[in-house]
Amino acid sequence: MLKTHTCGELRPEHVGQEVTLAGWVNRQRDHGGLIFIVLRDRWGVTQVVASPDSAPEAHAIASEVRGEFVVQVRGVVRLRPDDQVNVDWATGHIEVEAREIRVLNTSRTPPFYIYEESAVDEALRLRYRYLDLRRGRMQRNLILRHEVVQFIRNFMDAHDFIEIETPFLFKSTPEGARDYLVPSRVHPGKFYALPQSPQQLKQLLMVAGFERYYQVVRCFRDEDLRGDRQPEFTQLDLELAFVERDDILDLIEELFTQLVRTVTPHRRILSPFPRLSYAEALDRYGSDKPDLRFGMELVDLTPRLVESGFRVFNSVAGSGGKIKGLVAPGCADYTRREIDELTEIAKKHGAQGLVTLAFRSDGVKGPAVKFLSESEIATIVEATGASEGDLVCIVVAGAAVAAAALSALRLTFRDRLELVDPSLLAFGFVLDFPMYDWDEDEKRWNAAHHPFTMPRPYDYASMASDPQAVLSEAYDLVCNGYELASGSIRIHDPQIQSDVFRILGYSEEEAQARFGHMMEAFSYGAPPHGGIAPGIDRTVMLLAGEDNIREVIAFPKTTQASDLMADAPSPVTERQLAELHLRIVDKAS
Ligand code: ASP
Repeated sequence: MLKTHTCGELRPEHVGQEVTLAGWVNRQRDHGGLIFIVLRDRWGVTQVVASPDSAPEAHAIASEVRGEFVVQVRGVVRLRPDDQVNVDWATGHIEVEAREIRVLNTSRTPPFYIYEESAVDEALRLRYRYLDLRRGRMQRNLILRHEVVQFIRNFMDAHDFIEIETPFLFKSTPEGARDYLVPSRVHPGKFYALPQSPQQLKQLLMVAGFERYYQVVRCFRDEDLRGDRQPEFTQLDLELAFVERDDILDLIEELFTQLVRTVTPHRRILSPFPRLSYAEALDRYGSDKPDLRFGMELVDLTPRLVESGFRVFNSVAGSGGKIKGLVAPGCADYTRREIDELTEIAKKHGAQGLVTLAFRSDGVKGPAVKFLSESEIATIVEATGASEGDLVCIVVAGAAVAAAALSALRLTFRDRLELVDPSLLAFGFVLDFPMYDWDEDEKRWNAAHHPFTMPRPYDYASMASDPQAVLSEAYDLVCNGYELASGSIRIHDPQIQSDVFRILGYSEEEAQARFGHMMEAFSYGAPPHGGIAPGIDRTVMLLAGEDNIREVIAFPKTTQASDLMADAPSPVTERQLAELHLRIVDKAS
């Protein structure tokens, strides 16, 4: 090794020892005589001092080094004088008096500071990712990621799971996104699809008798990207045979509880994880990935107010629409402008407007007050529990719009009123999802989770006649308002599977061409089975306290799905295209 110790290692007990350190120069300061170098490696920083009297050669070299030079220092550890102790550093009590300094490599001036935690434009960080990754934040995040994955592997192994790799060059496995396709050179005109998840393969591993499988695996989905999405992302994919839903939820609850306690013991979690039905989650929080760190639950005022004389309220009579509200504590004195901002948020989510009632010391205020009777206001107070100082926000709309608008308002108040403890991780399970979503554009039913999900047994009989009413054996793990994992008990009966394909609009031939291998496998004794797939990127993001998964991925892509460092995607040669039997007909500008 070119070093005897790391830059995070030396303590007063090493005083007097000759050591060799190697790393990068954080900075060099010339104090007119003594030169100080702060040397950095993965483990920390150490101060090196070069004196013109005791080591003139080392001093001469030290005067030439610059930030990010790679240097090796041989020297002796000594205590720092009391007034120079740096308590922020683990090595802050000592310094290394250089005897010899070698420059192992020079460096151009980096485009941003490495050792300072200053804000840097993200495009620049991604362009020079290898330099960005040198910075403390990214080092900490990637080390945390390693610890998370390491913990998971040990946990899965201790629970008798075996890790099995599955192919990337495969066939389309639908998870609701577009596939990344790979043209075949050997089979002109044919394509592999990069798996959106190993869904089919892990189910086939259950048919194959492995009973407990897991894999830390990359998934590929070509979809419009947001902050917490990437074209390729990593899942802990797992599947078990001979299980029921609660077996899987219990296992995941144990995994995440122990993970947090081991890897980030300073974070608080709520135990046990609440389990809510999808209907309950929408009803109480307006979202199927509720942030459970705070209350502010939605109140359904429909039965109490639908017969009001107020035109806005009675407009939903007989339509199935909802009158729902929430109480924002201490917001009664919001200004007109602040109320307008809230109204805009509600409108952005499809609501026509927002009814607000401010409970001030001099009475109830708000444009709707004059249309409401005293007893209606008393009803609102009683149902919502509002008291003086509070602002009640009410949305009147179809059930889905009311939920979306109020959920957005709930999260807005969360942030404005700082209602959550940032150290808290509030996990929960959402259960009993609908089996099918209606696709208004294509005028057909989609699988709400994926087409291999088991419908709930008591709904099976009515499935063909009323798909909308069918619930499924699907479940999600949520945390702090993010969906962390999805999973389900699977169909293992080929008959149910083909019925589901029919409702999804696949013809016999199409189902056969795409999923014939699954149905055939199921005809050879498929065990009951189920699984789930927590997202590793999002998990690490939450544990790290970041709000973007790019901060916990070494080489992420932009929201335009590009790699700014290597410049991918990029054109290929005519010859490569010809080998793949491809021709570009329309080059987008
Ligand atoms: N393959 C599913 C997904 O990626 C997870 C599962 O059902 O196990 O969401």
